[in-house]
Amino acid sequence: MHVVVVGAGVFGTWTAHHLRTRGAHVTLVDAYGPANPRSSSGDETRIVRCGYGPDGIYSELARRSLEQWRALSDRLQGQEPLWHPAGVLWMAAGTDSYTSATQDTLQRLGMPLEIFTTAEVRRRFPQFDTDGIDVALFERDCGVVAARRAVRALAVDLEARGVVRVSGRVEAPEMREVRSLRTSGGAEVAGDRFVFACGAWLPTVFDDVLRNRIRPTRQVVTYFGTPPGDQRFTAGQMPAWIDFPSGIYGTPDIDGRGVKVGIDEHGGPFDPDRDDRIPDQASLSRAREWLSRRVPALAGAPIVETRVCAYENTETGDFLVDRHPDLAFFGRKDIQQLTLIRRMVRDLDWPVEIVDVIVQRFDALDPDRRRRHDLNISA
Ligand SMILES: Cc1cc2nc3c(=O)[nH]c(=O)nc-3n(C[C@H](O)[C@H](O)[C@H](O)COP(=O)(O)OP(=O)(O)OC[C@H]3O[C@@H](n4cnc5c(N)ncnc54)[C@H](O)[C@@H]3O)c2cc1C
Repeated sequence: MHVVVVGAGVFGTWTAHHLRTRGAHVTLVDAYGPANPRSSSGDETRIVRCGYGPDGIYSELARRSLEQWRALSDRLQGQEPLWHPAGVLWMAAGTDSYTSATQDTLQRLGMPLEIFTTAEVRRRFPQFDTDGIDVALFERDCGVVAARRAVRALAVDLEARGVVRVSGRVEAPEMREVRSLRTSGGAEVAGDRFVFACGAWLPTVFDDVLRNRIRPTRQVVTYFGTPPGDQRFTAGQMPAWIDFPSGIYGTPDIDGRGVKVGIDEHGGPFDPDRDDRIPDQASLSRAREWLSRRVPALAGAPIVETRVCAYENTETGDFLVDRHPDLAFFGRKDIQQLTLIRRMVRDLDWPVEIVDVIVQRFDALDPDRRRRHDLNISA
């Protein structure tokens, strides 16, 4: 099976990795290259936490991703790690129901979690002023991925493992039986299956179905320089954090780029292709004000870098798993049934097009699983 993955951000490269590991031929296409500065995966760091309020399904997914980031870092890191087990500190007011739901969920799932009083936070992480904080959760096994470097390292590794990389922007496909995609440069990229991991570009690639369902917003992050020789703000000593009362999250100094401060509120609409990446003054001032208040030793620290990138959120912030509103896909295995369904849809005048597809089980890609299946051994 030949799978074409469009988009070489974190989702596309990991999808390509898993497909390749299962034996698929994979082509990875990107308009601007892996972890490019327009992509969401192209920032220096990303927090990996397991707490997602009451949504244990996300906690389980995050736990699995932790294992994979650790393994990737062990396998591909050069001089500097790709994964930093700095821990993630949640700081909250006593009334914060999301934090208490997170505590319940992580404890129910048996995930490592420490609960700190504010005095304990100050003792453990004296970098933080805890004014306005009543309770803190500490996910000690979580941490920070050096996102840009990790995604690029994975893309290089994929190429060495036989994944074909193509540079070009894929044009919106005809949503019928896709056999190949056309790039902006005029190249045809053929495959048996196509995965679109296009992040904030998804609403433009699938304008008809996603335009009002995924909304890219403009997000600013600010990196502040630390005093010379001062190690208190490095990943070994300072955790990643989420400060709920302030709506601010951030990461310690990783790769010497400074302490990162992000605002966790949705900004205005954003075009990931055309919009400039110049931060607005209000966001910079808010980051600086927060830092002076919560990390007083960095009051007045200089801004050494900024990034503007896109959140791509659905209405609820959940993954979108949906049926296509105008198309229904049926296996071609039994042509009589397919003909019957087509006739019913036509007779009932339903505004749905029936598309016939060749259905193949995904695990057919993995020879080991296939063998176990044939021998009737459950996987
Ligand atoms: C400021 C900020 C902070 C965040 N913090 C965190 C965090 O701490 N922890 C966390 O887990 N998540 C965080 N996120 C979210 C996380 O970064 C994203 O969910 C993730 O990077 C999305 O990856 P992706 O692969 O889907 O998209 P992207 O990384 O954007 O990759 C999409 C790729 O598709 C390519 N592409 C698009 N359209 C086409 C086309 N037509 N043809 C060819 N190529 C195309 C693009 O060039 C791009 O490289 C944050 C996001 C932002 C903006």
